[in-house]
Amino acid sequence: MRRTLNLTVIIAFVCSACFGQQDKRTPESTEVWEPQPKIVTPGTTPSDPPSDAIVLFDGRDLSKWVSVDNGGPAKWTVKDGAVTVAPGTGDIRTKESFGDIQLHIEWRAPEVTDPSKVSQGRGNSGVFLQERYEVQVLDNYQNKTYINGQAGSIYKQHIPLANACKKPGEWQTYDIIYTAPRFGTDGRVVVPAYVTVIHNGVLLLNHVALLGATEYIGFPLYKEHGDAPLRLQDHGNLVSYRNIWVRKL
Ligand code: MG
Repeated sequence: MRRTLNLTVIIAFVCSACFGQQDKRTPESTEVWEPQPKIVTPGTTPSDPPSDAIVLFDGRDLSKWVSVDNGGPAKWTVKDGAVTVAPGTGDIRTKESFGDIQLHIEWRAPEVTDPSKVSQGRGNSGVFLQERYEVQVLDNYQNKTYINGQAGSIYKQHIPLANACKKPGEWQTYDIIYTAPRFGTDGRVVVPAYVTVIHNGVLLLNHVALLGATEYIGFPLYKEHGDAPLRLQDHGNLVSYRNIWVRKL
């Protein structure tokens, strides 16, 4: 009898504590006020860099870039606010190295002058994140290719959810969110790289995990690395770029 009474008292106490606490809850009790996110002033249009962005190409010069082949000045052609691949001069890369970034880059495939050029032969270039992981740039407007190599794919790794290509000659946008891979002390990858790609406002890749560095032949593999430059590919086609900026994340 006495044991039952004790149990009843305990249950009553626990219940009153629970309900009492619940009674104290307010909308404000689950609000978080500090620390406030930093102020970033957005650009006038989505092409313009926000206030904390690093502008890598503003239409004037390639002072932030070098030639991959010899580390000397980048030899691509700057004209009318755009930079265009100078075929045969090789890839270019940024002087600065990056880890996790938000990247905005605009590209334009050249008008089709040779209809025999199809598939990977039309408007081919590429944005290599940390010099290793290629987001494919390709003119896939009414131009089929293998789907893990089309515009916005992680070349030979991830197939885009859509084909959002504009006609050749028109400017297109890539907005890319990239999280660099993390490596353990033994040099093995612990957390893979992740990429999200939005092409002309259309989501193509939604936080996909990378399997390793892009390979033309064979399977991707990770090799330990730290921060690394952004690289643009000379694939022999007159692809142009403009409004290139990154935000470090
Ligand atoms: Mg390419």
